[in-house]
Amino acid sequence: MKILGIPVLNYHAIDGNMAANPDSRNVSVSLQSFREQMEWLHKEGYKSISDSDLRKLLLEKKPVEGKHVLITFDDGYYSLYTHAQEVMSKYGFVATLFLSTAYIGKPYGLSDFYFVGDDRQLSWAEIKTLSENGWSIQSHGNNHVKMNGLDKATLLKEITESKQAIEQNLGKPVDSFAFPYGLYNKMVLDQLVHVGYTMAYSVHSGLLNPSSNKMRVPRIEINNMDTMETFITKVSTGYISPENERRSKIRDMIYANAAVKDLIEKWTPLFGFGNH
Ligand SMILES: [Zn+2]
Repeated sequence: MKILGIPVLNYHAIDGNMAANPDSRNVSVSLQSFREQMEWLHKEGYKSISDSDLRKLLLEKKPVEGKHVLITFDDGYYSLYTHAQEVMSKYGFVATLFLSTAYIGKPYGLSDFYFVGDDRQLSWAEIKTLSENGWSIQSHGNNHVKMNGLDKATLLKEITESKQAIEQNLGKPVDSFAFPYGLYNKMVLDQLVHVGYTMAYSVHSGLLNPSSNKMRVPRIEINNMDTMETFITKVSTGYISPENERRSKIRDMIYANAAVKDLIEKWTPLFGFGNH
């Protein structure tokens, strides 16, 4: 089978009681679906890699041999500690977690993520355990704000404070970033590089290949709207449908220059590309 590229999956929370939290399906994946998805990846021979493995693969710029998958989680929910870790460790899978550091240890979820139900934020002690178990802990900013709406000083504070907090607490380097809400502009990309990030993760569809932009790594969002069939399509092709692939590729081509993207996004309603 021809390997098209590496799927980078984007999850948020794992819901052990989806029936009680029906509104969480846009952001969470039920524990049962997550089990089935990880089992499928394992059976299909996928090897889980971390963000630093991915960086090496991109730098080498060689065709990738074998099936690899990068599993990422955003925000930092407790269910990763209780559910995701247990399911993934069965198959020797590890994840890359993008944390919003201002919320660590808070009793309730992010104020704008009410739909995650009662899944509280991870504590530093739990994050430390995940890190010791092979998870890579990286930055999702400090306050989970829209990065493309910030002035330069606030932006710098967001991307440096979160980096430093994780590095100081875990003693490991933080050099990958995931944009909250998938939003970024040219200044965000420039300043991330300026303060020492070497990779940034978007929510643009598609599979990662050696020519992918390191500061806009494509990620495929998985939530509980996905069936096993759509999950397999997304992992195998990077897109939900051929129509999605066509539109995404046109957008990627036009957005290749971030300054052009900034200009066009002022007119986004006219173009209808959306933020992803
Ligand atoms: Zn987020």
